[in-house]
Amino acid sequence: MTGDTQVWTPIDFEADGKQCDWLRIPHSTDLSGYGVVPAPIVCIRNGAGPTTLLMAGSHGDEYEGQLALAALARNIDPAAIQGRIIILPALNAPAVEAGRRVSPLDDGNLNRSFPGDPFGGPTAMIAHYVTSVLLPMADIAIDLHAGGRSCDYIPCALVRSGGPEAEQRALADLAIAFGAPVTSISDGSGGGGKTTFSAVGQGLGVPVLTAELGGRAALSRDGLAIAERGLRNVLKHTGILSDLAADPAPPTRFMRVRGRGAFVYAMRRGLFEPAAELGAVVEAGQLAGVIHAIDRPWQAPEPITFTEDGMVACRRAPMLTVAGDCLYKLLVDVEPG
Ligand SMILES: [Zn+2]
Repeated sequence: MTGDTQVWTPIDFEADGKQCDWLRIPHSTDLSGYGVVPAPIVCIRNGAGPTTLLMAGSHGDEYEGQLALAALARNIDPAAIQGRIIILPALNAPAVEAGRRVSPLDDGNLNRSFPGDPFGGPTAMIAHYVTSVLLPMADIAIDLHAGGRSCDYIPCALVRSGGPEAEQRALADLAIAFGAPVTSISDGSGGGGKTTFSAVGQGLGVPVLTAELGGRAALSRDGLAIAERGLRNVLKHTGILSDLAADPAPPTRFMRVRGRGAFVYAMRRGLFEPAAELGAVVEAGQLAGVIHAIDRPWQAPEPITFTEDGMVACRRAPMLTVAGDCLYKLLVDVEPG
């Protein structure tokens, strides 16, 4: 499968030192027949040791991870590490350039494109390169997200359920090392199923931690600080940066999505006026918000209620809403034991 990739880079992943260059994704257009899409990549290696793969910009309008990884790439001295760190701060570079969730080149949503296709569009080619070349080199991987234009998130980490017990234990240890205030354990059914990076990580036996660090295509300074501290603590946890003086990670609260009812949807068009704040604890039957009809403002707005108890982890950001838009995602505590 690796041999099929059309993506290439001059970086030698086996060489010591810090190499900064680009992935080159072939993209042939009217004005650039032999063109490539460049996506920045930094490889920092010092001798034998574990490999950590760090990615952000899978969705272009999510920023805390992009800044945290760029800073890490600039600041890490190769002599200070043992092993290898591969950093891609703007993985779906065309989406980052456009400030969009999806790539303007092919409408590709990178974190719904795994395991990818070496002969597909640019987004599918990037996903395939990550799956077939980068992920097999990694001992652990982190993929930093936020809510993008459409959502606002409490800062939280996400890990996938359903793997073998040893792998789930490794994921829990990774989440504890990262130290986000909340870690959500999910089977992925609410967002992406088997097409996400964490799904292919599970398939290849590589622990993948995803994080949601803010949203609304803005920068959460809280989320940025959590990412910066979390990355350093994870690199310490893996032994790659064992001498690092990092602030200790605060305890994380393990939570989960209870079921389909954790996702609240709008089923009509209008202006969504939310009634619950991010982080609020809500109960089944409680008012979640109302939707105002644009064309019949004389009508009473339509109420929407929560159908499950939980904590608001994610809320829709734009007021303008159509049928099928997700308005909330709720989490509940994982029962001990
Ligand atoms: Zn995302």
